[in-house]
Amino acid sequence: MPEPGRGLRDLGTPRPGVDERDMVFSRALLVPGTERYEEYYRARPQCREKDEIFRKEPGLLAPGTAYFHPLGFAAAHAAFWAVEKLRPFVEGEGDGGRAAPLELLREATPGMSGEAAPEGWARVPSDPGEVTSFLKAWALKLGAHSVGVTVLREYHLYTHVGRGSDYGKPVELGHTHALALTVEMDRQMVDRAPGSPTVMESARQYLSSGVMAVQLADTIRRLGYRARAHIDGSYRVICPLVAKDAGLGEIGRMGLLMTPRLGPRVRIAVVTTDLPLVPDVPVRDLTVIDFCLRCRKCADACPSRAIPLGDPEEDEKGVLRWKVDAEGCFTLWAKLGTDCARCMAVCPYSHPDTLLHNLVRWGIRKNALFRRMAVWMDDLVYGRCPSLKPQPAWMR
Ligand code: SF4
Ligand code: SF4
Repeated sequence: MPEPGRGLRDLGTPRPGVDERDMVFSRALLVPGTERYEEYYRARPQCREKDEIFRKEPGLLAPGTAYFHPLGFAAAHAAFWAVEKLRPFVEGEGDGGRAAPLELLREATPGMSGEAAPEGWARVPSDPGEVTSFLKAWALKLGAHSVGVTVLREYHLYTHVGRGSDYGKPVELGHTHALALTVEMDRQMVDRAPGSPTVMESARQYLSSGVMAVQLADTIRRLGYRARAHIDGSYRVICPLVAKDAGLGEIGRMGLLMTPRLGPRVRIAVVTTDLPLVPDVPVRDLTVIDFCLRCRKCADACPSRAIPLGDPEEDEKGVLRWKVDAEGCFTLWAKLGTDCARCMAVCPYSHPDTLLHNLVRWGIRKNALFRRMAVWMDDLVYGRCPSLKPQPAWMR
């Protein structure tokens, strides 16, 4: 068991075998009275009682919830609707159409015929480093805050699909690499957690990251390789685990990716592919784990007490981690109507990406004593349980 300051230690390596059908978001979609519902709870009777608790609440973005805001909820619904419209494009067609680039060039180039492409036109770089650099730079240009690449590992994948028309099918991607990207959640909107601005911002960033991932996947397919975008509601991979191995951050107490400059204040999308990319060599920052051992601010501020206050513990697979009570968290969402995000708002790593806060982050990375002081300073300046902020003026 890691102890604060007793040398920096990693938590466990995740194990494969996570079924998306067991995720609380998938369970929330089960409709009582249907065969799928009955079948699920026959197989997992231990989940039925907990799930009936959140089913009694109005639900995410529903009227009658504590933070119902007709305009804000309509805006969030609209963004989630747009994400849904993206889902048919996450996979593209067939095998990726290895001949597509030449075909497209022939259509687009007057007078071009035959098998040979004009000099320089159909050249897909054979250097994986060149393609990787291009895709990462393009992701940043599209608006990503950070981007990284990893070899795809078995524990990144769900075993079975838990949402959509492929529900229950085994996940078989046949891909070798993954590109993960993060997008920033606006600080002013997240600061209003758990009010309606947070869910509007979540929806906006799921859409924004989804648009980027779909474009990147399509770009890869146009190079003649297979690629799939993993966006909200259409995941085959566990995005935070992929992002961590791509060097974008660590997994902290609240179970979210903790990025070096924005902490958990990000959303993630992933593209998996059989295009051979060059993986990043992650520079691990175990001071995040050490800081989380001392801080506990998210656990103190969590209205549903879903985040453990204690040390990480072994889960059912024997992996050391902080296990968040997903049902407790989701039940609160269903009461509030928003995705809460109070933990994200109060986390000291979520502060703005400014010189002052980056100096503090640097100190946290460099010195154990500073880490202890930083917890105290953050409480002093922002409060241990910061008071809830009102809606922005334009939403009142
Ligand atoms: S609030 Fe503190 S304990 Fe929670 S994730 Fe952030 S740094 Fe870790
Ligand atoms: S989203 Fe809210 S309820 Fe869920 S873990 Fe974070 S603070 Fe707790």
